[in-house]
Amino acid sequence: MPAETSIYAQALQAIGETAQAYEVRDDTVARYRARMRESGPLGYAEGGMSALIVQTATEHRRDCRRPDCRTCGNLREVLAVALAGARELVDHEIASMVDSNRRRPRLLPKWRRGGVR
Ligand SMILES: [Zn+2]
Repeated sequence: MPAETSIYAQALQAIGETAQAYEVRDDTVARYRARMRESGPLGYAEGGMSALIVQTATEHRRDCRRPDCRTCGNLREVLAVALAGARELVDHEIASMVDSNRRRPRLLPKWRRGGVR
């Protein structure tokens, strides 16, 4: 089994077990999957998850009074992953725009097309 498949299988199992513990309903999952099919799974998963993470972290931060809290520690890691993902998306978008301009030189200013030195 390729390493990526194993990672996905492990992630799916871990998420599934935790979702079951939180009594996540299959019809709720199906509703989100339908939305993902409309807007693309990665974009939706990233945007939807990040919004929920931020909401959860904001509410927990407001309510938590424990000096050493495992939930705060986990949220800190999850926020780091969300921030990394958001930065990757922004970098990817910028790289796509630059690449797109390279493929359509007429959209570049004259000095970038090599016509004027
Ligand atoms: Zn806490």
